[in-house]
Amino acid sequence: MGHNSRTARTVAYIASKELAQVSALLPSNRKRSMIIHSLASSLGLLSNAPNTSGEIRVVKPTPASYQDLAVYHSRDYLDFVLDPKNSQGLEVAEAAEYGLEDDCPPFSGLPHYIRYIAGASLTAVRELREGRSRIAVCWDGGRHHAQKSKAAGFCYVADCVLAILSLRILVPDPDSPAKMKKPRVMYLDLDVHFSDGVCAAFQSSGNSTFLHLSVHHAAPGFFPVSPLSTLPTATSDPFLLSLPLHRGASNATFYRVWLNVVEKVREAFQPDYVVLQCGVDGLAGDPTGAWNWGLGGEGGMGWCVGKALEWNVPTLLLGGGGYDSANAARAYAYLTSIAAR
Ligand SMILES: [Zn+2]
Repeated sequence: MGHNSRTARTVAYIASKELAQVSALLPSNRKRSMIIHSLASSLGLLSNAPNTSGEIRVVKPTPASYQDLAVYHSRDYLDFVLDPKNSQGLEVAEAAEYGLEDDCPPFSGLPHYIRYIAGASLTAVRELREGRSRIAVCWDGGRHHAQKSKAAGFCYVADCVLAILSLRILVPDPDSPAKMKKPRVMYLDLDVHFSDGVCAAFQSSGNSTFLHLSVHHAAPGFFPVSPLSTLPTATSDPFLLSLPLHRGASNATFYRVWLNVVEKVREAFQPDYVVLQCGVDGLAGDPTGAWNWGLGGEGGMGWCVGKALEWNVPTLLLGGGGYDSANAARAYAYLTSIAAR
């Protein structure tokens, strides 16, 4: 897919002052983005260190256009959320219809937020598709609960879905250049919450070139409640996989899950691209409190991300949940260092 050894190790890190400022407006994660990027920067991860084999390039995001967003979102939803009049703190009757209530309140700057977050993930995708980078990191993305016409679970824009759709644009088949093929995309979600928004986008699409695997916590009443978040059965769509884990999942749990499930699914599917949603709300210390997963060590989140990068498939690393900003910044700095290794 247009990759060569010269670009084999390059890592694109999507960041800009505007992105951090706009992303930091998210009510569930106020200021988090600024802390994440400033920690990565102050640790020297964003400059080319002479001892690392990789090269990190900071790439500024281009905000998404209306057309970019309309590839998935409905026009009704976009017309509502992109109109600044609807996010100025006044009661607007249709807000609830679009999910803009409870955990997704409208907030000042919402139109910019939506354009920047989608634009950041799409900028990362372009780095991969055009072969400039083997790994693209977009910690501001990963909003996996947003629906086509509705905000949900702190997610106002379905950047994961937009990124996947953009990676699946037809390209010349390397095995027979006269033909076009749809790249095979594997979406793996490590956030403690089930990726219901992404799953819904591809439900009953009958495709076999996209695979969804969500490893998450599920329990009665735990968000999001969905019949798709359970273990697959004989009649489930084999391309929309879920692996619910009990409370307290740890490095030992993930070590087994990785070797017995994730690796096997990847081997069977043989993706051309991997999209890895790295929500850090399953780590020990997160206020969500469902799992006891570690960042370092065998079976830790860093180990899992490192294993995924060993597949040597162009990979998009997205963020996600994580509700202690200092812990989240530490986690994302560590995962950035693994991407650069
Ligand atoms: Zn989450």
